[in-house]
Amino acid sequence: MKIIRTTRSMTAWSEGLRGESVTIGFVPTMGALHDGHRSLIRAARLRCDALVVSIFVNPTQFSPTEDLSRYPRPIAHDRALCREEGADVCFEPTAAAMYPEGFQTTLAVPLLARRWEGAARPHHFAGVATVVTKLFGMVRPHLALFGQKDYQQASLIRRLVSDLNLGVAILVRPTVREKDGLAMSSRNVFLSPDERRIAPLLSAALRAGEQMIRSGTDDVAAIERTMRQTVEQAPAIQIEYLAVCDPDSLEPLSVVAARAVLLGAIRIGPIRLIDNLLVKMPGRKVLNQGFRLKAEGGFDDLGFKQK
Ligand code: AMP
Repeated sequence: MKIIRTTRSMTAWSEGLRGESVTIGFVPTMGALHDGHRSLIRAARLRCDALVVSIFVNPTQFSPTEDLSRYPRPIAHDRALCREEGADVCFEPTAAAMYPEGFQTTLAVPLLARRWEGAARPHHFAGVATVVTKLFGMVRPHLALFGQKDYQQASLIRRLVSDLNLGVAILVRPTVREKDGLAMSSRNVFLSPDERRIAPLLSAALRAGEQMIRSGTDDVAAIERTMRQTVEQAPAIQIEYLAVCDPDSLEPLSVVAARAVLLGAIRIGPIRLIDNLLVKMPGRKVLNQGFRLKAEGGFDDLGFKQK
């Protein structure tokens, strides 16, 4: 596995392969890799001839009150995981290379970024949209994979890729969870044992909401009440939002129609956790194999290259 640190070498490597019709898969990450990242890397490995994983803790998606310097950076462990999963390149650009003096362009996806994570973290999605677009420009992938764990982020990237004709196929893969339901996250290591014990209440609340929808409830207020009550079993948890939304626009629903996404964010002490569940009404198949956000460049619905 090659470790590439300069943007110029990254692009040269990719351009060389593109010239030989090699398909390039790409998994962008902020490192501190866990089994959620691993599942994306494996899925990319299965689908593409060459595989790039990027590790870059992007400063522009953190707000001044969020501690960028505390974000875990276990680089030796991360490289070992990438190597184990057959990555060809671990791309580790420096912040100085990503944002050289004079850098000033940012991208906005205003409607999709307006609520939920965007409301809680005002500059977050501009930072995400800009860095993902820059990484696509450097890595020039055919297929890029994202986790459903960050549902709003995945929706926004789909929009961005379509709006700007970036020509990258996007595949979104299911959330990987601990045995007790907690969605894996690089931030889980910050939870104390007591906090870790109550953290699965977020996914339990979403499942309770899902259960109500599956048994025929379409009353969003009642579903949200049940989700709240589930989380409120632990007084140490503060709810930021627990909402029933349209899976495409992410606008709140007042009545559940054919599909809904349940979005949640909680705070346990200083730690923020997010999670979501995509629900289809009974009788319709739930897309639990990951859902395709944007078909482009000759890939089929599961991200495999069409013959
Ligand atoms: P991050 O390093 O947190 O920026 O995440 C990099 C990618 O991994 C993003 O596309 C995330 O959505 C995805 N990801 C993070 N956690 C999980 C998880 N538990 N399951 C699946 N994908 C995940």
